[in-house]
Amino acid sequence: MGESAPGGLLKDRRSVVREIAILLAVAVVLAAAAFAGQRLLVPRAAISPDIAKGLDERLGSLMRNQIRATQKVIDLPLVNKGFAVIAGRLHAALPESPGAEGAFQGIRFEVIVLQSPEINAFTLPGGTVCVDTGLIRELHSAEEMAGVLGHELSHAVNRDPLTLLARRVGIAALINAMSGGQGGTILASTAQTLVDMHYGREAEDRADAFSVSLLARAGIPPDSFGDALARIRDSDPKEPGLLKYLDPHSPIDQRISRAREMARRQTFSPRPLGVDWAALVKELPGR
Ligand SMILES: [Zn+2]
Repeated sequence: MGESAPGGLLKDRRSVVREIAILLAVAVVLAAAAFAGQRLLVPRAAISPDIAKGLDERLGSLMRNQIRATQKVIDLPLVNKGFAVIAGRLHAALPESPGAEGAFQGIRFEVIVLQSPEINAFTLPGGTVCVDTGLIRELHSAEEMAGVLGHELSHAVNRDPLTLLARRVGIAALINAMSGGQGGTILASTAQTLVDMHYGREAEDRADAFSVSLLARAGIPPDSFGDALARIRDSDPKEPGLLKYLDPHSPIDQRISRAREMARRQTFSPRPLGVDWAALVKELPGR
């Protein structure tokens, strides 16, 4: 009895260490491939549900820690409270029943605000959405922010980040890495690749449509998403490179007019968010 406990503990520790090593190896491989900008010719059905199960959440959690360790995360009561209101409203409006795309409400949806002049928002595997202060400053209302978050939520519930990372690196390399590669370093560059990530026309169109209907379900004016896109289009950053949010492969004017058209077809009963957006923006530290 006295012998089995330490043995068990040791085994547990070993398996935890191994799991971390595997995840790091996956991350390193993903980082290397994505960093090199490779687009390997891998079929779209990139990753089987079995492999994906839990992997996005674990990878996302490592990346979240990495981001928290390396970037300035805004942690101010007024900002946190505002985003909690918006995120809570959207989360509650996610379709309940497991449809073709899974049980949406099971997702772990979290918003992290990063101090950065970049006009961008991006989603980590697992459901964490990172929003740059540069984007927050461009938007005029919490409802517009909800539109952007609704779009990112579509990427989260459809597991677009993990699918794209897997597609870029290839299934075989991913499985190799999972079954015993050496753990290493640089989660940072993996996270960095997500910053610049666009998921292709199909996933982006789906995310636009998802956002518009989610806004309506949440009692938020569904044209807020088109409004948000227009603000982003009309933003005038000091350097063009700061505007990262828009995908060069999806013409923005077309996206805006489609979003507005979809919004017109929605019915909704307005429930004000009650977030003082101007006060929230004012709270943000200097650029
Ligand atoms: Zn997107």
